[in-house]
Amino acid sequence: MDLKLHGVRGSIPVPSREVLKYGGHTTCMEISCDTFQLIIDLGSGFKNVEIKKNIPTFIVFSHFHHDHTQGFPFNSAVYDKDIQFHISSALLNRKEILKVLKNCFSPPVFPLDILDDNINFNIMNFDTFKAAAIDFFKIETFPLCHPGGASGYKVSAFNKSIVYALDHEFGLEKNIDNGLLKAALNSDVVIWDGMYTKKEIKNKLGWGHSSIEQGVVFYHKSKAKKLLISHHAPGRDDKELDIMSNSVLPKGVFFAKENKTIKLI
Ligand SMILES: [Zn+2]
Ligand SMILES: [Zn+2]
Repeated sequence: MDLKLHGVRGSIPVPSREVLKYGGHTTCMEISCDTFQLIIDLGSGFKNVEIKKNIPTFIVFSHFHHDHTQGFPFNSAVYDKDIQFHISSALLNRKEILKVLKNCFSPPVFPLDILDDNINFNIMNFDTFKAAAIDFFKIETFPLCHPGGASGYKVSAFNKSIVYALDHEFGLEKNIDNGLLKAALNSDVVIWDGMYTKKEIKNKLGWGHSSIEQGVVFYHKSKAKKLLISHHAPGRDDKELDIMSNSVLPKGVFFAKENKTIKLI
């Protein structure tokens, strides 16, 4: 089972020479193996996901902010009638997901109505999605602290577990933080929202993101094997990430890098 990072940037894609090492595409991560493909969030990195035809493709959204949806119409597989996408989110029900995606990807804000007459999108309530996925992987959800809400996920298969916690503001709601910690305890990989530094976050209370330094504290608490800090701020270039990687991150904590594959089995 592989975890592939197709987009690790927050807020807006960054097409700049200064971010070539860590990448400029917004959030999109893929968990896949021979039997299934699960894509979490469709930021601009979704454009580069290779959709496999012979195995089921599942898509789950943490929430529906632009940087988690904007890649949806830009992967050519979306227009291939032979491929079915099983789509869900724990944040909204089936009807609400359909409404949000339709609003995002139909005129006047998008040239095509990609959900109209498209038989290959199987949008489901989260419970139905969870049941449909169980033959391939187990998916559990927990709430995150973010304006408008967001859902975190724990995906388990082959005795490995990956915890996805974008977008989340740590330290605002104790119950939510405890739920996240419970999910992350002893997991193999935690994907952490490290949009800000300790210094920057002081002026961003209520903006819905955590800091890099909080990720380090969480890593130790969670006893996870690996913690990937992602959702990099659009202005954070490779140079700064390299410096922080050497000075702030302990062994086991990494900055997420676009195109990187983490082999779990
Ligand atoms: Zn985001
Ligand atoms: Zn967000």
